[in-house]
Amino acid sequence: MSTVRWDKATIGYEVPAISPPDAPMIALKRRAINPAIAIKWSDLLSTAAEVDEREALATFPKWLPTLHLRKRLERVSIEAVGSEMWRDGVLTLSETQHLVGMLSSGKSTLLLALLFLLIRPGYDKRVVVIASDTAAASLLVARLRAHGVLKATVISSIPNRAEHLSAAHWAAGGMESDSKLLAAAAMTESLGIACPLEGYQSAERELISRGEMDGETTFVPTLREKPCHRLVAPQKSKRSKTETLDTRDLRSCPLISMCPVHAQQMSLSDASVIVMTSQALLSMSPDKSVVEEHMSFPELFQYTADVVLIDEADSVQQTFDDHCLQDASLLAADSGAFLPEHQRLMANSLQDRLGGQYAKAVTVRWQAAFSRLQGAVALAYHFILRFEKDLLWTTRGQPFTAASILCDLWSTANPGENEERRAYFEQVAILASSLYSEVADEQDTQDTPQGLTDDRLLAAHAFLKPIQRELLERGTDSGEGSPLEKIAKAMNEGPLSMFSTSAQTGQSKLRRKSIPNDDTARSRALGLALLTNVVLSTFGYLVRNQPAVEDDFKLAPDSIFNTARRFMMHYGAIIPRPLYGTVFGLLFEQGADENAGGALKLVNHLGVGRYLLTNFHRLIQKEGQAGPHVLLMSGTSWAGGEAADASPRYDVQSPVVGILRQPTAELQALENSIYEFVSLSDTPIPVSGCPSDVRRDNLRRIARLLGQSNPAGTRLEQKWKVLEQSWGAGSLINRRKALLVVSNYRDARVVANALMTAAGVKHTVYCLVADSVAKADGFAHEQAKEAEAYGQNLVLLPRSRVETFGDAPDGAILIAPIGPISRGHNIVRSDGCAAISTIYFLHRPHPRPDDIQSIVGCVNRFTMEWINKSRPGQDSISTAGKTFERKARFALDDGFALRRSFSIMPARARTQYSWDLITQLWQTIGRGIRGGVPVYVGFVDERFAPQTFAGNPNAETQASSCLMACMRTLDTAMHSQEVRDLASRLYQPFLQGLQQLFPLAKRG
Ligand code: SF4
Repeated sequence: MSTVRWDKATIGYEVPAISPPDAPMIALKRRAINPAIAIKWSDLLSTAAEVDEREALATFPKWLPTLHLRKRLERVSIEAVGSEMWRDGVLTLSETQHLVGMLSSGKSTLLLALLFLLIRPGYDKRVVVIASDTAAASLLVARLRAHGVLKATVISSIPNRAEHLSAAHWAAGGMESDSKLLAAAAMTESLGIACPLEGYQSAERELISRGEMDGETTFVPTLREKPCHRLVAPQKSKRSKTETLDTRDLRSCPLISMCPVHAQQMSLSDASVIVMTSQALLSMSPDKSVVEEHMSFPELFQYTADVVLIDEADSVQQTFDDHCLQDASLLAADSGAFLPEHQRLMANSLQDRLGGQYAKAVTVRWQAAFSRLQGAVALAYHFILRFEKDLLWTTRGQPFTAASILCDLWSTANPGENEERRAYFEQVAILASSLYSEVADEQDTQDTPQGLTDDRLLAAHAFLKPIQRELLERGTDSGEGSPLEKIAKAMNEGPLSMFSTSAQTGQSKLRRKSIPNDDTARSRALGLALLTNVVLSTFGYLVRNQPAVEDDFKLAPDSIFNTARRFMMHYGAIIPRPLYGTVFGLLFEQGADENAGGALKLVNHLGVGRYLLTNFHRLIQKEGQAGPHVLLMSGTSWAGGEAADASPRYDVQSPVVGILRQPTAELQALENSIYEFVSLSDTPIPVSGCPSDVRRDNLRRIARLLGQSNPAGTRLEQKWKVLEQSWGAGSLINRRKALLVVSNYRDARVVANALMTAAGVKHTVYCLVADSVAKADGFAHEQAKEAEAYGQNLVLLPRSRVETFGDAPDGAILIAPIGPISRGHNIVRSDGCAAISTIYFLHRPHPRPDDIQSIVGCVNRFTMEWINKSRPGQDSISTAGKTFERKARFALDDGFALRRSFSIMPARARTQYSWDLITQLWQTIGRGIRGGVPVYVGFVDERFAPQTFAGNPNAETQASSCLMACMRTLDTAMHSQEVRDLASRLYQPFLQGLQQLFPLAKRG
């Protein structure tokens, strides 16, 4: 018998005495060179024809829609951009190649044809495909298997397996009745959830230690809790003859090689096609039973994959960036928030072992640090809540660190802009990072502030170190001799005077009005900086040392500590580390209830995720290993290119080597598209930037105005009549469908309900919902959670089935958030043309003030530029490091600038924002132009062009209208000699549409 310890209990397992086959090990193929792959276009066409032939056979599953791959491929036209990737009818895959094409130019067609060809005999390549979601991955693998490609597998996470399985069954449930079973069987083939080891257990499972199980009579381990690699064989103690568990001696389940749960991983050794999502690629790792070394999937593929195919590369880039951003709750309402969860686990384990853990010094030290973290977090809350008004400038909606607070205090006290000032700024940041050693007992902290050379700041450092300890003891006490009083005094006339504005007068005072001037308020901010430093530094210590105490305290294996540690173990050596060490800061989110405090989150920037995307072919090049060739494709992954003001989030920093061209006839058809501002009432209706209750009221009003009817029909019906007159009779057959675009699912529900009430039976109203809401029966589910439930007559359309809107009856209207609707599934008629003819944008997209993605985007983009640019004559690594840090701080400032209100954005941030906006709007408009048909686009939110809506189109500028800024940005790109062709191939139809909006504006 073996036992397994999990979070709730220690339970016994009968392990059968059988000898299943060994798990098939993956051979890591060493290769110094991965030869380029030359592919004749004629071979691609013949492969596509073979695919079509097989799909035409009576034996081919009817539930899989036929691809018509050859016909689609014949429409694809490639144009090389200064490279050898495409020449004389031969496509050559070599290292990382970035291929762009306008929406609907055949990217997914090319990807499929390449996949089928690369695995054909003669090519015999091993291919990895990055899919948009697990359902799409399962569908692709099911198709490959239907074509006889049996060595194809999905790789998806085991903890989420039940959800993926249910999603696949649910997706199959939407098919025609005679296909349901076949489709479900094919799509769930590799999503096994049965645990054979459970089959060997008696009904009365032995419970060794109840732990958290007290009071529960039955228990069924979930997939996350299975003992796959956590079995422990009990050992007899020689002295007492009792059985003990040595949890360092963990063993794997002997059934793993024949276990359905692990079938995906077992098939890795000989799979010719592996399909996985970008999230799974980074968050999963190969099972240790099939590879000898611990490694990540990106590292494994350096040895085992020949080609990686990635569509929607800009979206994948965002996933990679996001994956490296850990936003974890220290204290929050969520279950699993770090402090309460770990406190509970530690208390239970101490009770279990009666403090036996304290025999080890390391557990005592770790617990002391944990207590210090609790104390510092409690005090940070106390500061934020008690001195709310004095601290709002730093805690509202943005992450803060000791460095960010000190730098802000210092910069408002020392206005100006020159090199000398910047150098001092760096010194302030060093001061902020070198205070912790006084309060920490850990050995790995430094006593002397390395790099701190300024005498005044050295004096400040000497003063603050003991104050930090005092602050932890006396908190917000501001009486005689208290730490806060000492800080305020030292600001007034002592060693902290560089943080005081009291010496300034008049104009030079208060460059940033929100930061207080009086020393008492500023001393409180400095106190918060000292506490923040303790929180973040203690967290860093606990992360590094958790492995030493994990078993003793029975800590959860998926805690935020472990997530960060696991990430660093896998990626620390292969991707660049970010600015300011690894922690971006603390983020305080005020609770809705005035008696509640708020959530304190930790924003941890672990690495430059996008580096993996553009360097996938050479991640371990230093070890002499050549990785796979990578093909990156998208319609919007070129968004400014090398320009300093390109899109920080979407532009993929890899030179474009080819463009997929849209057929001329389709481009001509797009010229008939109509773009206009839509005024629905006498007074313009603003949406973006309004308080949430006002925004939703205004959205309801817009929905009512769009849906209300007069003798000529609803506004939408009238619009379709006008469009048909303009585009020709029959042009709207099966295209009388509209899309209303909002910013999030809750707003979509508000609009859908109001529209349905106003339109009655005139329109069928569809509301896009997350799959989880649809599966949980959206009506009941949301009714329980929210004040406004979905109306009973709404059609709730799950995100993963959005393409079925193409089959909706004429007159149907879909309400959807911009994020989920702008990518992925095509919404088309049976002839492949867009089913949606009419798109209204009800809400101008804009980053939220607490959005951190724009900041991460700016820092990561800068880091990649730094890496990609050669700097001959650079003095030394240390000089380069300093220059990097200084410039990266400016990139950070750029990121913060992007979250400002549009009207006060600096010019550069405005252009960056406009590139972000161009990609989002153009991708969404792409839902209406597939197959080369014109689209109608209406902009309803007054914020899109306030002057135009107010009747002063002449006064509109790119500082007042984001759409005019987009037009100027595209116009500038299309007049640039270097990028003119590229920009026009991707965005010309969009620019023409924007120009319709501003007929009075001068052209570039
Ligand atoms: S490897 Fe399979 S059989 Fe063994 S414990 Fe895990 S899920 Fe169960």
